[in-house]
Amino acid sequence: MLTADQLLSELLDRARALTATETIATEASLGRVLAVTQVSAITVPPLDNSAMDGYALRAAECHTDQPLLVSQRIAAGHVGEPLQIASAARIFTGAPIPPGADAVVMQENCTVDGNYIRLQQPVKPGANIRRAGEDIMAGDEILPLGTRLGAAHMGLAASIGLATLPVYRRLKVASFSTGDELAQPGTALQPGQIYNSNRYTLTGLIQALGCEWIDLGAIPDTLKDTIATLQHAATLADVIITSGGVSVGEEDHVKAAVSQLGTIDLWKVAMKPGKPLAFGRIGEADFIGLPGNPVSAFATFSLFARPFILKRMGATQLRPTIYRVRAASEWLKSGDRREFLRGRTRIAADGELEVQLYPNQSSGVLNSTVWANGFVDLDIGQTIRIGDMVKFIPFSEVL
Ligand code: AMP
Ligand code: MG
Repeated sequence: MLTADQLLSELLDRARALTATETIATEASLGRVLAVTQVSAITVPPLDNSAMDGYALRAAECHTDQPLLVSQRIAAGHVGEPLQIASAARIFTGAPIPPGADAVVMQENCTVDGNYIRLQQPVKPGANIRRAGEDIMAGDEILPLGTRLGAAHMGLAASIGLATLPVYRRLKVASFSTGDELAQPGTALQPGQIYNSNRYTLTGLIQALGCEWIDLGAIPDTLKDTIATLQHAATLADVIITSGGVSVGEEDHVKAAVSQLGTIDLWKVAMKPGKPLAFGRIGEADFIGLPGNPVSAFATFSLFARPFILKRMGATQLRPTIYRVRAASEWLKSGDRREFLRGRTRIAADGELEVQLYPNQSSGVLNSTVWANGFVDLDIGQTIRIGDMVKFIPFSEVL
């Protein structure tokens, strides 16, 4: 059995990044992965400009007791004239500083009298001026290849004038669930059935990564159906994800089916929730078989399938940031596997961040995944006393 760390590095070693790229509109690039490092052709801001609505002037010319003539008006989007001696320019936020001026006084600090202003306090050179290039210099590498584009990246790309971005093509991820007991939400439950929740958890996880989801539904626990569905999936998808049927019981056919069609290369991880997890290949498609227990499927996808898929997508930031947080619950059972407990953070009375554990950590209790906002990452044999510092992986890092 592989440790969680071994499994993750073995998986990442086997993940071949996409090479095919396409150019898309910047506004449509959310969640996509940049295929070429973006270098700015321009300086941002292009000119020194005002950070305030107020008056641009020469600091050395200004005395609080002397009125100053307002000799011009410069709104954002317009360019002023060189500043006349002993005068000020009415200026608005974002407007370029006129040649000769070296400071801006905010309007709240001036008294206006007709065409003249009087300063209420002295002004220092440089005050309220945003310098050309203080954000970006021409030639700066602003977005490295492999960046997963979020709202901030899209805005930054637009700020240097990029209307389109080169990205890797969307990764195609097919998923299906296995289990005779599975009923589709919207139908009545028959005796012995449960609703198929993994299909929904998985589509959420897959789509949140920006992948194209290919839905292959749910199949019964037969080798024949499993082989047929996997074979079909391999013709459609870059990555195939299954839930359930990956253990070694008589009703578990996934491993046998993958072995007939391709190879199983990695199998079983020493973690809780989890354990039965398989990786393999069918033709050109990668295969990841997740356990059927809903919390196990959620956790193993988040911690293993996600970084694998991200690497396949061409992304470079793969592993989550792990925080250290003070424990507000105890955990006295020392396990023989790495455990990922569901926990929720809050600010304690003393102002520090602390994490509570969901009372029922069973791998079937899906409520824990909604209640919690992250995993408490417990080493083999580790127990927790209230007040201990524990490793915490926020869901925002892995979902
Ligand atoms: P398995 O890994 O197939 O042995 O399933 C382990 C447990 O997870 C069983 O209790 C299954 O009923 C349950 N399970 C499997 N697949 C799903 C699913 N798609 N949705 C909800 N529960 C599931
Ligand atoms: Mg099953």
